[in-house]
Amino acid sequence: MCVEVSIDLVDLLYRVSKEEREKHKRSPSTYWITDLLRCTLKRDYELRYPELSESEVFMPFFIVGTLVHRGLQGLLREVMPNDISTEVEREREIVLPNGEVVCVSGRADILIKVGEELVGVEIKTSRSDLGLPKQHHVDQARMYNWLFNLKRTILIYVSPDRVTQYVIEDSASNEEVVERVISRKIPRYEWECKYCIYSVMCPYKIPSR
Ligand code: SF4
Repeated sequence: MCVEVSIDLVDLLYRVSKEEREKHKRSPSTYWITDLLRCTLKRDYELRYPELSESEVFMPFFIVGTLVHRGLQGLLREVMPNDISTEVEREREIVLPNGEVVCVSGRADILIKVGEELVGVEIKTSRSDLGLPKQHHVDQARMYNWLFNLKRTILIYVSPDRVTQYVIEDSASNEEVVERVISRKIPRYEWECKYCIYSVMCPYKIPSR
């Protein structure tokens, strides 16, 4: 039997997630690192119909991801308060083959100071530990190495089956970043459509069985 209490924690979680999302509004001249790792059409849809993607914050899996991020960031802040920064944003300009200058922007979950070196940390929550590390996550770490000029980024996975980490030392090049910005790969991976909020309107959707 549910007893009514005066503190609505569910409402609080949704409000915090929504406020967090609203801090990061899209601009047509800026590409997020995540745009360069997925179906290129999703960025277009997000610019035209932002309301649909904003509704994703109400998905429980999104809330779980936010809590894991906040938890690990808070824990590291406790054990190494002087050596970590969280939610660090950076932008780099690149020139496209047609001469247009665009901005590539990203946000590192955590940067840890190890001696003279800065090491990136990218936190991933996953429903299972099949196929780790995922190629698009490895590419994301490579893109962060490029954006923040890092030698390495640690990909840490938190799933019900396994908590594990992979150290990614490879970096994307300027050419690769340009190629990803101008790419029209729709979708980039077949499985994307199954999880895409825009699949309800997209003519390119690849239906899953
Ligand atoms: S449904 Fe598939 S092809 Fe269409 S925008 Fe989403 S991921 Fe891209």
